[in-house]
Amino acid sequence: MNARYPVIIIGAGPAGLAAARALFDAGVKNVLLLEREAEAGGVPRHCRHPTFGIQTFYRPMNGDRWAARIRQRIEHHYEIRTNTTVVSLNPGGVLEISSDRGLETLYAERIIIATGVRETPRHARLVSGLRPQGVLTAGALQQFIYLRKLKPGNCPVIVGSELVSFSAIWTLRNAGIRAVALIDENLRPTAFKLSTLYARLMGVEVHLGAHITRINGTERVESIAFRDAAGQERVMACDSLIFTGRFTGEYTLIRTSHLLHEADSGRPIFDQYGCCSDPAYYAVGNMTHPADMGDQCYQEGLRIGRFVAESLRAEASTSFQVPVILHEVFKIAAPNVVRCDTGSQASLTLNVRVNRYHHGEIRVMDRQKILYRKRHRCLPERRILLRGIDISALTADSQLTITI
Ligand SMILES: Cc1cc2nc3c(=O)[nH]c(=O)nc-3n(C[C@H](O)[C@H](O)[C@H](O)COP(=O)(O)OP(=O)(O)OC[C@H]3O[C@@H](n4cnc5c(N)ncnc54)[C@H](O)[C@@H]3O)c2cc1C
Repeated sequence: MNARYPVIIIGAGPAGLAAARALFDAGVKNVLLLEREAEAGGVPRHCRHPTFGIQTFYRPMNGDRWAARIRQRIEHHYEIRTNTTVVSLNPGGVLEISSDRGLETLYAERIIIATGVRETPRHARLVSGLRPQGVLTAGALQQFIYLRKLKPGNCPVIVGSELVSFSAIWTLRNAGIRAVALIDENLRPTAFKLSTLYARLMGVEVHLGAHITRINGTERVESIAFRDAAGQERVMACDSLIFTGRFTGEYTLIRTSHLLHEADSGRPIFDQYGCCSDPAYYAVGNMTHPADMGDQCYQEGLRIGRFVAESLRAEASTSFQVPVILHEVFKIAAPNVVRCDTGSQASLTLNVRVNRYHHGEIRVMDRQKILYRKRHRCLPERRILLRGIDISALTADSQLTITI
């Protein structure tokens, strides 16, 4: 039988590397990290803009340099097996993995799932038209340009108006390419309002409230048809189309496993310690809340790593779980259940996202009792933290409802 590890971490991105660092600091020996890419570091490896590092090293750093630094904090202490994909999760900490060594089974007392996010590609957005070459995501664009030194096209159109959409303009510029336009269905940019000014200063047309109706071209993208905010049908010549953002978690493993998960999204059920429905499994990083910034995921990874280290030492205690129920304005809450036991912290932070704009009060209730109330200005895709929720009086029949 193969060796049993105390902890195996799936995914060596910022969250997985941070959890590993916390385990090392807590004195846990022989932790294994599994990473399907050829190199550890996760998404920041192919980000060349200085939006990383402030919380970790107190200075702005390009993603690739930041990824190298957080990798160095761990690679001399624990084995990181790259080019290794986890293909199934089984009860009690049993993993199937695939690599050039073939299929193997590994065992661990705790498994931390830190598999990150993916962007919503064209087919999932139901954009019609033929299937020419030149349609990609912002993540793929970064990999083409920075890792493979390839140009995906000369006159691309960017779809979306999240932060990552504007970072795509920057990525293209670094390769000497100017985007023709940035198009989004929303009437206001999902990122900050000023971001459209940045796009225009970079010579990129901005069309908000616009719907792509067709991608034209047989071999390669030749143009797109779209309906602008005034309802006018238009055609724009371009040779590539970059779908950006609309992040979803990398849930393939969860959906096919025994772990309880949300039926619509596949997001695992997990408590404030990251613990899933099988106590051998923990979840952390962007897969639990698509999508926060790299530094934020790193801080969270440190926190969950400490909880996992404690769980290896702790005696099993009697606990109960309280579900988190969402008003329809809310899209997700992380965590989605709350664990209560004698050792639990009395205060909870919820990380939530909204489906639509909301400016006003948010309340967290246990049946009729208000546990938290505060005014928030909420925009879709933005991280909203509800801090300091008093959970000390929750009982086994409590229901934590987030409402407006
Ligand atoms: C295109 C894009 C641009 C971004 N730009 C910025 C930015 O400018 N600034 C910023 O702060 N944040 C940015 N982010 C967000 C940032 O990358 C994330 O916050 C951070 O990488 C999340 O860390 P993570 O460890 O949760 O996930 P990831 O970084 O995604 O790491 C997950 C790792 O798990 C591995 N993995 C997945 N499934 C398996 C499996 N089955 N077996 C083995 N390994 C597996 C993946 O290969 C990956 O390395 C961006 C994200 C994207 C997608």
